[in-house]
Formats: sequence, structure tokens, C-alpha cells
Amino acid sequence: MNSKRIYLSSPHMSDEGYELEYIRQAFADNWVAPLGPNVDRFERELAEYVGVGHAAALSSGTAALHLALRLAGVGPGDTVCCSSFTFIASANPILYLGATPVFIDSDPGTWNMSPAALRRALASLAGRGKPARAVVVVDLYGQSADYDQLRAACADFGAKIIEDAAEALGAEYKGKKCGSLAELAVFSFNGNKIITSSGGGMLVGEDGEMIERARFWATQARDRAIHYQHSQLGYNYRMSNVVAGIGRGQLRVLDQRVAGRREVFERYRQKLEGAGGISFMPEAGYGRSTRWLTAMVLDREQGRVSYRDVYDRLAEQNIESRPLWKPLHLQPLFAGCEYYSAEDGLDVCGDLFFRGLCLPSGSNLDPADQDRIIDIILSVAG
Ligand SMILES: *Cc1c(COP(=O)(O)O)cnc(C)c1O
Repeated sequence: MNSKRIYLSSPHMSDEGYELEYIRQAFADNWVAPLGPNVDRFERELAEYVGVGHAAALSSGTAALHLALRLAGVGPGDTVCCSSFTFIASANPILYLGATPVFIDSDPGTWNMSPAALRRALASLAGRGKPARAVVVVDLYGQSADYDQLRAACADFGAKIIEDAAEALGAEYKGKKCGSLAELAVFSFNGNKIITSSGGGMLVGEDGEMIERARFWATQARDRAIHYQHSQLGYNYRMSNVVAGIGRGQLRVLDQRVAGRREVFERYRQKLEGAGGISFMPEAGYGRSTRWLTAMVLDREQGRVSYRDVYDRLAEQNIESRPLWKPLHLQPLFAGCEYYSAEDGLDVCGDLFFRGLCLPSGSNLDPADQDRIIDIILSVAG
């Protein structure tokens, strides 16, 4: 067993030490609290980067989605459409609010929500007198979904659209940054994302009044009074000023991290594409992916091996890889929920799940280690 573990996606702090400098400042000013100058500036700097008017720094991306859904008016008994091919955090907040998720398949060309399947779902729900209140659209593995088409479908059926850009900070759609493509969008700064604050999230949007309401709910919905007065349900969801310092430092190197992840992907592509039926998540012509995670698929017809063989051989060498997200419509938690596949008899994300693997993709992945990973994959599948 090789002693140095290679991770799927590990934190990558700036060479310049920006993060520690912002933390030092927080300590120097004694802003060691869930508010302070780093929080305010991180919100402003991130909003500026993404090209939106307002941002609220929160304790996680999941918290941001919870507040976004509440802002969209989602409540008990409502129906919310959601990408199926994603991490569970995209849909858990739908359950927090007592609403019911309806899952939507992926488009084979982008792996993101199929606009055709969404349209069918929205029409069917409206036809049954249960129109969807909102739609959670995920930008998968660093790639934007097709917002022109998805927004048109939502507009036709009066559903609010929420962009889950947790995996796509730094990505673009038709020249605009992910996170600016819906009325409300969320980011995550969890340890495995393209930049990290050690844990945290952000809710962003154009409507300052909405973002302010989210900030209010995130601080226990405390009314204006000198005593503790509450007339609405709130949460403790604010980001710490120390954590925001890490986030600010990381934001300064985000574009380098995007370039680094794309280089990692390119090296995999050049050496693996075509060998043993290997292909990769396609990059849609409408935008620019960050390649947050390199996602590889094995062709069932051509290939002699399954992703499990590759996974096992890498694991033997202390190298972390991960099957693609298990679609939410296949999760026991969501058994019985409705699912709209891309076409009749064609379950795109269900099929991808049984053929694919995410490879170590960190911007700090050592090229020599990556060559070793590539050799192992070729020895199994090549
Ligand atoms: C990571 C992630 C989240 C949740 O973010 P946390 O900060 O971990 O709560 C939500 N959606 C997607 C698609 C993610 O990958």
C-alpha cells in the first residue's frame, strides 16, 4: 500500500498565504464571531465575482438552499422539481420544508437537467392541479445547465427557478458566471469544492430585499428591538468571520484553481480518451466548465471492465475515486417519488451512474501522481 493517500478533491490554500492573513486580521480585531468585516467583504467580493447584486454568507450550501426554497414560497404540501443526478443536499431542503420532490433526468449532451423532461414534468403536474412551486437546477461537476431553455419552461408554468451552483463556482454559461443565471443561486465552500472556507455557503441574487430576508431568517429571525423578540421562524445559519477570512483568501486564487482543474482534466483526456471504451463528461458548447471533478465513463459494449474494477485497483494504491452521484430517484430516501426520464425507456443519469467514476481532480494534484493514476487505469481498462 502506497503511504501517501491521493484524494479526490482536497483543499488548496493560496501560496501567498492570503487566507491566514485574513484570519490573523480577524483575531487582531477580535472579530471571532458569526459576523464582522470578513463576512461583509466576502459577500461583496463574491457577488462582484459572480456578477450579481447581493449575497448572504451562510454556514453551508445546504442552508443556502433551504433559505432559497423558503424565499421561493415553498411550504408543506408543495411540489418542487429537482435534478436527479446530484448530491443529496440539492433535495434534502425540499423535505425540510415539508414539500415533495419530483426528479428530473439529465440531458445526455450535458449531464445536466433535461429541458425536455422538465417541460413534461411541469405540464403533467400543472395538468393534475399540482403545479410545481419551484425548480432546483444543479450545475453538475463544474458545468452549467442550459438556463435559456430551463428558464423558458419555468416561466411557462409559473415555477421559480433556483440555481444550485455548489459545484460550479467559476463556471460560465454564454459569457455569464454560474450563480447569476436564476433569481436565486447558492454556492458551497465545503472542503472538497473548488475553493473552500473549511465549510460554508452563500446565497446570491439580484433582489436585495430577498437576500436581506434570508439574512434575517439566518440569524434566528430576530426582530428589531433591544430585547429578544421573534415573530417568524428562524435558523442559526450565519457564517463565522474567521471562516469568511479563509473564503476571501481563496476567492483571490479562484481563477487559478479553475485553470488548474481544467489542466488536470486535459491530461486525463489526452492519455485516456478512447482507450478501453473510456470517455468523459461532455463540455457543452454554450459555456465553460471548471472541471471541478473529472468524470469518466466506460462504454459497456467496448469495455471489458466495469468502473468497479478501476475503483478497486485505485483503492489498492491508496488513491481515492468515487462513483458518479447515485441519482436521487434511485435513493431509498426518495422511494416513491415521481421521476421524469429524458425519453421513454431512456434513463440517462441512471445509466451513467452504473458506468462512471470521478477521478482525483484537485488543482494541487501532483503531475507525477496523476501519471501514476493514468497508468493504473490503463492497466485495468486500456
Ligand atoms: C456540496 C453540494 C451542496 C451542499 O453544500 P454544503 O456546503 O456541503 O452544504 C449542494 N449541492 C450540491 C450539488 C453540492 O455538490
